Amino acid sequence: MTETEIQELDEDTVARIAAGEVVERPASAVKELVENSLDADATRIDVTVEAGGTDLIRVADDGHGMSEADVRAAVRQHTTSKIESVEDLDSGVSTLGFRGEALHTIGSVSRLTVQSRPRNGGGAGTELVYEGGEIVSIGPTGCPEGTTIEIADLFYNTPARRKFLKTTATEFAHVNRVVTRYALANPSVAVSLTHDGREVFATTGQGDLQAAVLSVYGREVATAMIDVDAEGEQTNDGDLPPGPLESVTGLVSHPETNRSSPEYLSTYVNGRAITSSAIREGIMGAYDGQLGDRYPFVVCFLDAPGDAVDVNVHPRKREVRFDDDDAVRRQVEAAVEGALLEHGLVRSSAPRG
Ligand code: ADP
Ligand code: MG
Repeated sequence: MTETEIQELDEDTVARIAAGEVVERPASAVKELVENSLDADATRIDVTVEAGGTDLIRVADDGHGMSEADVRAAVRQHTTSKIESVEDLDSGVSTLGFRGEALHTIGSVSRLTVQSRPRNGGGAGTELVYEGGEIVSIGPTGCPEGTTIEIADLFYNTPARRKFLKTTATEFAHVNRVVTRYALANPSVAVSLTHDGREVFATTGQGDLQAAVLSVYGREVATAMIDVDAEGEQTNDGDLPPGPLESVTGLVSHPETNRSSPEYLSTYVNGRAITSSAIREGIMGAYDGQLGDRYPFVVCFLDAPGDAVDVNVHPRKREVRFDDDDAVRRQVEAAVEGALLEHGLVRSSAPRG
């Protein structure tokens, strides 16, 4: 009889396994960095990627920045400045991040450089170089206020995962989708995306959703968008049938402006980009079969009381379920249909209720 085969994994191995859970591909790393920039109150976020993000991802922001001590803490595991206890989770988290694991795990499967300087003259700049989960160097540096994070050679030390990466075009399409979603959700932040030296889009940060759509999707789509603005329950003179949503606002396209893929449906619950079959069905129902198997352009913000949606979904899963999916579907359908009806773009259905 041999002794037990069960062994404790060393810290490095544990971190690399965990990394696979949070970071599946370059786009997931981009998502974490952009969320951090938004959480840091940035008004400008510049995303640069090379080779679809597999060679390099750089996210530069003008957010509140970090002190040297904060930079050092940021790459440790389960360190976050955003929540203190599980009670904070229950009361509804307002920041996008809260797990305190992204930088640590990304840093364990890449070469990570952090440059940061506190905003408003709050101190000197710091540069930290982190490789395969170890601090290689940390020290003062000259840099603008805000934070720039570079991730080079993602998965260089996990060849199995690197092998799973798709073509540059596919990886970049995922990156583009992520950055687009956040750019549209935050029209008051100037967001730019550059791939292999070519600027793909740049929003102005003027605060206007219509203008953000113009920057991201171009004129043909922007001019085809109509306003959705439904608030409150019908029982109290509002626009929405009963359900958990307090408002549905944003833009949806004329039925003639459509695409074969649902990727242009950008939907958010309390500012968080999510997908949901209830929301999708509500939108498609509003178009009343006019689109066949095609999809409209949609940028819609759904608001629900913090405790009505669980934000503690797995970082890789964006698909959410509501306690009452049916009610959400009816509410979204009513909101979008109301907008289309106002423009005479659908036939009025039988009176509801
Ligand atoms: P989380 O976002 O869940 O807190 P992260 O690992 O993504 O965890 O980041 C750890 C911490 O590093 C954050 O809580 C924040 O304090 C700091 N941080 C990360 N990115 C930035 C940034 N761009 N600007 C300012 N602080 C940042
Ligand atoms: Mg984060």
